[in-house]
Amino acid sequence: MNDYIVRATALDGKIRAFGAVTTNLVNELQHRHQASPVVTAAMGRAATVGAVMGIMLKGNDRLTIQIKGGGPIGQVVVDANAKGEVRAYASNPQVDLPLNAGGKLDVAGAVGTDGFLNVIKDLGLKEPYRGSVELVSGELGEDFAYYFGQSEQTPSVVGVGVLVDRDYSVKTAGGFIVQVMPGVSDEDLTYIETELAKIPNVTSLLSEGTTPEDIIQQLIPGEVRFLERTEIAFTCTCSRDRLESVLISLGEAELRSLAEENQGAELVCSFCKEKYQFTVEDLESLIDVLGKKD
Ligand SMILES: [Zn+2]
Repeated sequence: MNDYIVRATALDGKIRAFGAVTTNLVNELQHRHQASPVVTAAMGRAATVGAVMGIMLKGNDRLTIQIKGGGPIGQVVVDANAKGEVRAYASNPQVDLPLNAGGKLDVAGAVGTDGFLNVIKDLGLKEPYRGSVELVSGELGEDFAYYFGQSEQTPSVVGVGVLVDRDYSVKTAGGFIVQVMPGVSDEDLTYIETELAKIPNVTSLLSEGTTPEDIIQQLIPGEVRFLERTEIAFTCTCSRDRLESVLISLGEAELRSLAEENQGAELVCSFCKEKYQFTVEDLESLIDVLGKKD
């Protein structure tokens, strides 16, 4: 099954909900970064919410999420857009930690709890939108819920999970976000909270064959209208051209030292781990480009 996100509304648009299956995406992240289980869980949770936040955008809009909590993982970065293209990385993908007290992957231990969750949205305006909250749990679902409530003034429930197999591959990954618009009655809110408490966890539901649609249906009171379903996939936008611009931005002196001392350069994309080789001749022709600009 391909990964997808489904969008739904209920109570005359006063509730909006998103459900996601992201197993392939998170598997690809694990594989590309050779990530340990706890890092796969952290990157996967962040990328799942990131994918949904991408779908909340329109047209060519895109966003970047940075999570920096002072833990051994370093920072987790996710890029996503309205087309369902998602990529992510963690600074230290091989960090491994013992299971937490609940016998689960210790995502909060890896991410840390002393830091920030930043969201930068490129909405095609002069200045990007920037939102930032302090991390409240480090487990990420709760942190994103806090972000939506504080930074976007949209009370939200976020459930997200990644189930990693013994061989480090990803068995299931996915999640849901339910957002409450003004005008929802206390009774309906209580309903959602009660139903939410009954949900064991997202990954066990998904691995039993429960669809994101079923989960949303169970969480929301009244009739649910399912809107579009968008396929999502790991996609990296790096290219040799882009990395050439990065090299050019280093300036002539730096390029000369790469050419003379290092006999060339190898650049690795942080997101997809693709390697780009630049020979001494390549670097010299970039130096020529720089010379012509002056
Ligand atoms: Zn790349």
